Amino acid sequence: MTGDELDLARTEVAATSRELARQGLVLGTAGNVSVRVGDLVALTATGVTLASATTEDVTVVDLDGRHHSGLLQPTSELGIHLGVYRDSDASAVVHAHSEAAVALSLVADELPVVHYQQLLLGGKLTVVPFAPFGTEELTASTLAALRHARAAILAHHGTVAVGSSLQQALDNAVLLEWLCRVYVTAAAVAPPRSMTDAHLQAVVEEAVRTGYGRTRPVDPA
Ligand SMILES: [Zn+2]
Repeated sequence: MTGDELDLARTEVAATSRELARQGLVLGTAGNVSVRVGDLVALTATGVTLASATTEDVTVVDLDGRHHSGLLQPTSELGIHLGVYRDSDASAVVHAHSEAAVALSLVADELPVVHYQQLLLGGKLTVVPFAPFGTEELTASTLAALRHARAAILAHHGTVAVGSSLQQALDNAVLLEWLCRVYVTAAAVAPPRSMTDAHLQAVVEEAVRTGYGRTRPVDPA
């Protein structure tokens, strides 16, 4: 691990934090972001305003949470970030306090599959029961939910999204918020219908057949 790689990771965590705020998924000092670099983790410090985060607001710890570099204490949700890296092959974690996800958690115990893009997050998502931020109870229940999904909804709190890169974790957080907004918008009118297993099977087959989500060159004339 070179110092340059760590500096780049810290810069990218700060940039992702600002983007998370710009997209309206966090308010004030809420939310946190991390990326794994080898056996180290660069993550936002506690008390940082993500909208204006800089490299100096990003701390580096090892996989056991021991301080490596940076001047500030890491986020209070350190346990969730480290647990994701211990339990999975994910390389980045984004935690947000986004509005539609919190709203959904007030009125539902799960987000059924409302749109086929939800398959990117692992399908149906169960809402993680409330426990105070930073507690072992919240960490354990969130990590259990993430064992089967790329994102989790935390009751009366927010979301956690993971990815193979900071960009993918951010994209998953944005997608989850959009899906929650679709659900609560529909739920205001009538109980939302969810996609059936037959729908989902057909989507998977079509995605495999066409290589969904990949760009493809035009056929030669
Ligand atoms: Zn939080």
